[in-house]
Amino acid sequence: MSREEVIHGTVRETGGGIYSVTLDGGEVVDASLRGRLKREARTGSRVVIGDRVTVARVGDAWTIDSVEERSTELVRRGRGRAAKVLAANLDRVFVVVSVREPRASTQLVDRLLALVESGGMHPLLVLNKLDLDAEAEAEALAALYRSVGYDVVQTSAESGAGIDALTELVCDGTSAFIGPSGVGKSSLLNTIAPDLDLRTGALSRKTGTGRHTTVGSRLLTLSCGGHVADTPGFGDVGLWSILPDEISHCFPEFEDVADACRFRGCAHVKEPGCAVLEAIEAGEIPQSRYESYLVLREEAREAGERLSLIHISE
Ligand code: GDP
Ligand code: ZN
Repeated sequence: MSREEVIHGTVRETGGGIYSVTLDGGEVVDASLRGRLKREARTGSRVVIGDRVTVARVGDAWTIDSVEERSTELVRRGRGRAAKVLAANLDRVFVVVSVREPRASTQLVDRLLALVESGGMHPLLVLNKLDLDAEAEAEALAALYRSVGYDVVQTSAESGAGIDALTELVCDGTSAFIGPSGVGKSSLLNTIAPDLDLRTGALSRKTGTGRHTTVGSRLLTLSCGGHVADTPGFGDVGLWSILPDEISHCFPEFEDVADACRFRGCAHVKEPGCAVLEAIEAGEIPQSRYESYLVLREEAREAGERLSLIHISE
């Protein structure tokens, strides 16, 4: 068997061991994993949407031969379980919450923002359902998150408010929307790109027999040229956690002042001369951000202890 050509492409869809790859020339092909990659996939290192790969044609079939190093990873970690990469090389992640029905807590927002930061990305915050008589609450949340350095878009998939601003961002590069279910992620995408016909809470995609189809992850291509990741696991935020030593790095406004802490590796809890604690005391960092930091830190510490227990018993 002779292998003729090695070609680069981007993984657009995964599921059932078949990978849909858009070649750099524009052609879309279905490929399977080469032996070594298949073994790696079994040990947890998966090929995911957004991965840059090299493919080769062997006769009529295509195989993925290698995966290039990722610039970013959107990672989900189960409590005490291995990390699972959901998408690679994203240009932008929108953390979507709603101001009403359900009403977002700052702790949930902070958790999602930190999770995206932990994958090497700087998220944008989308506050949806502005139409539910929630302008004042949305404005207060927006002001809080702008003050710590995040871009905030206020939207309503219902009234169309903020959709132009969101569309402009989504039409450039590759994006993902993450957030709890029911906040309007699919509705926002459907408003931006009606031709996509995504699954929304009101209308789930079903097979002819009335059963839900199981879909893998996809990168959707918008007619304006942008790409959006559609991954079932994005909604499942209850299970997400971050590694203990990563947490303070996931609060950019802490990082901005942490160089001035007296001790290297300061945990910003009760150390003397802690610049983060001083900034909170002075009202320069919102109290709610610090409370979330402590909660995430405690969770990570407990998860870490459980992990080392598992290690010892093995
Ligand atoms: P997802 O789970 O985050 O994808 O949320 P969906 O897009 O499925 O929306 C969940 C529910 O919220 C649906 O009943 C939508 O019609 C509703 N919804 C979505 N966006 C808005 C909005 O901006 N305003 C209002 N009032 N309802 C919305
Ligand atoms: Zn400190």
